[in-house]
Amino acid sequence: MLHVGIDDTDSLDGGCTTWVALRVIEALLPDYNLIGAPRLVRLNPNVPWKTRGNGAVAFTFGRGAGERQQVGALPGGLVTAHAEAAPAELDAGELLERVLAVVCEEAQPSAQPGVVVSEVRPREGLYWQGVRGIVGEAGLREALEGTAHAGLNGGRGLAGAACALAWSPRSGGVVERCSWELLGYRNRRRWGSPREISAESIAAVAEIEGTFGCHDPDGSPAMVPHSPCPVMWGLRGLRPEPLVTGFSVLGPERPERWLLWQTNQATDDHYRVELPAGGEASLRLAGSVATPPHSRRGGHRFFTFTFEGGELECAAFEPSGDFRKVVDQLVPGDVLEVCGSLEAGVLKLEKLRVVTLAPRQRKPPNPPCPECGARTHSAGRDAGYRCRPCGVRLPAPVPEAVAPTLVPGWYDPPASARRHLVRPARLMEPAVAVQAAAGPPGSVPLVQ
Ligand SMILES: [Zn+2]
Repeated sequence: MLHVGIDDTDSLDGGCTTWVALRVIEALLPDYNLIGAPRLVRLNPNVPWKTRGNGAVAFTFGRGAGERQQVGALPGGLVTAHAEAAPAELDAGELLERVLAVVCEEAQPSAQPGVVVSEVRPREGLYWQGVRGIVGEAGLREALEGTAHAGLNGGRGLAGAACALAWSPRSGGVVERCSWELLGYRNRRRWGSPREISAESIAAVAEIEGTFGCHDPDGSPAMVPHSPCPVMWGLRGLRPEPLVTGFSVLGPERPERWLLWQTNQATDDHYRVELPAGGEASLRLAGSVATPPHSRRGGHRFFTFTFEGGELECAAFEPSGDFRKVVDQLVPGDVLEVCGSLEAGVLKLEKLRVVTLAPRQRKPPNPPCPECGARTHSAGRDAGYRCRPCGVRLPAPVPEAVAPTLVPGWYDPPASARRHLVRPARLMEPAVAVQAAAGPPGSVPLVQ
């Protein structure tokens, strides 16, 4: 069998790498079988040249064996994937030529596509480099050795294509470190026109077992893109079957094609647990609140967070909506885990976990004067209270304990403000078995 990786076929002004991949599959299905589901691999969201989602794709072609399952539909028929591959003599160079023909036809003119065709997948370390950092020249050269590959317009996509090939949904014995997205695609004539998908039909798929990211708490759709791209909607979930059996309620506009993708979305794979030497990174850090949160122009919230490696400022920006109200309720001493992207010394929060809450206190109301009954006034910092008419002084009363308004747990911004790689807060709990031996050293288990 042959593994195919493709990246950087879209650009900031539209297009979609999964669409190009779908067209490749469509062109090659008469001659090859798909082995396993196609894979959509999100890479480092902090790279400066990223398109909206920084997603690369990979799939495997061969002569199918074993069980077959439907993973999509085209105007011409079903797309099925085999569980296994039978031995077959395949020509990587010839397959590369055929993939390139489709990529040249479908890719955006400003894109820098990369295509890699290989009998073996690159080492998994390459994926971790690609999702948490930047793949260097040497690492890429090594990964491409012995493969058939091509880069167009500069071929920046070669690194992403190789990284996508290196990703595998590692089975931790209990939970697979992956999720699924069923993407519906529109007829080419409708690209750029408003998508006719009702809020009711979105609410219906949000009820399907294991789906996530369908809509925001206020009901506004999060699964329907606004860009003029071929994607009509993306239905995300933890398991594939409920997506395939359940998506048909979405409408009234119907997809012309659909394809089920196995993805690293919602895995938190992009988080490192230590500050990098410099530059930008996605981080997951344990520590505590050092300063009371404060608001700045535009409705953004900031607080100082202290952790073993030092201190940094955390921010919840205006688009994070009600998540800011969670931040407002933090007090110094609250023990947190924070997840976010570090840019210019500020950690832009993607979610946070309240681990334990510090005691909350409130200054009691000013005591009345024991002589005349009038309300006393503060006599200055640490100087107690004083009755102005009588001159009576009273000591400052002990602060009152207040019940916290927050409860321990995970909190995050609405789905529409969430990055693809971020696991939604509600999937972080209740605790599921911790995966052993998944990910590289220093990685954080998917669910704790
Ligand atoms: Zn008085």
